[in-house]
Amino acid sequence: MGIDSEFIWFDGELVPFDQANVHVLSHTLHYGLGAFEGIRAYTQPDGTPGIWRLEEHLERFLDSIRMMRLDCAYSMDDLIEACKLVLNKNGFKSAYLRPIAFLGKGALGLGARGNPLHVVIAAWEWGAYMGEDGLKNGVRLRTSTFVRNHPNSTMQRAKVVGHYVNSIMARWEANDDGFDEALMLDQNGFVAEGTGENVFVARNGVVMTPPSLNILPGITRATMLELMKEEGIPCHARLFARDTFYVADEAFMVGTAAEVTPIRSVDRIVLGHNGETAPGPITARLQELYNKAVRGQHPSMTRYITVA
Ligand SMILES: *Cc1c(COP(=O)(O)O)cnc(C)c1O
Repeated sequence: MGIDSEFIWFDGELVPFDQANVHVLSHTLHYGLGAFEGIRAYTQPDGTPGIWRLEEHLERFLDSIRMMRLDCAYSMDDLIEACKLVLNKNGFKSAYLRPIAFLGKGALGLGARGNPLHVVIAAWEWGAYMGEDGLKNGVRLRTSTFVRNHPNSTMQRAKVVGHYVNSIMARWEANDDGFDEALMLDQNGFVAEGTGENVFVARNGVVMTPPSLNILPGITRATMLELMKEEGIPCHARLFARDTFYVADEAFMVGTAAEVTPIRSVDRIVLGHNGETAPGPITARLQELYNKAVRGQHPSMTRYITVA
């Protein structure tokens, strides 16, 4: 499964995949100032695709652009229509959508302000981000030596292109050491998140997740909080250190790409009491509910935009 499609939306027009190119002197390519989103569309019961929580994703996209002090020429409505068009014209029933806003060619140098802001929306068919086995049996994490970006070094709530240098350093370190993913700590040593996923940890039926202080506040994280409220599963957003994982009953990571992925071990310490394998009961329940919700099969969760 590659990243191919027939058409990519590029500054308001559908462009054939092979022609959606940029100049090598594009500003963002050099300095990383730009914003992006990751969105998924799932096949709904009527067979058409529905884009899960599209407005929230696009709101964050526009916020990220504003936090970078850039101006987007497209409104929320323009972007909604563009996302629908990309899915329709490519004939996808389910897909990953990638809006990105980046500064093009004009001037280089950090003081350059006048470069055009290009907006692109691509889509492709994407399976499990952490692999099918990870989704089913859980992933192995290691605590990263790379500290999550300080809230005052960049705007942590924004999904900014350049932030992902920090994430990639951590992810590659973890992978080179034989782990699936990194657990990133913040500047004070508290648990922050994965490289592109928020984390949850449970013990004795009570769930904890880092507050939206030192993390990118994910839309999947918000969905989890809603689902837990409905299910009567207590969940607290608070700071905690990595030792919480070492004595946890179960844990999981969430994100649009990762969906609900169980965590099997942290720093080689297998989670759970009896050597039972991930996912634990809370993880399994939330995974089931999430998989239904995004496909339009959860009665109280209807926040998808139909594309037909
Ligand atoms: C995108 C992202 C997430 C997950 O956010 P969702 O809105 O759930 O997709 C979590 N952490 C980081 C660092 C991210 O970039």
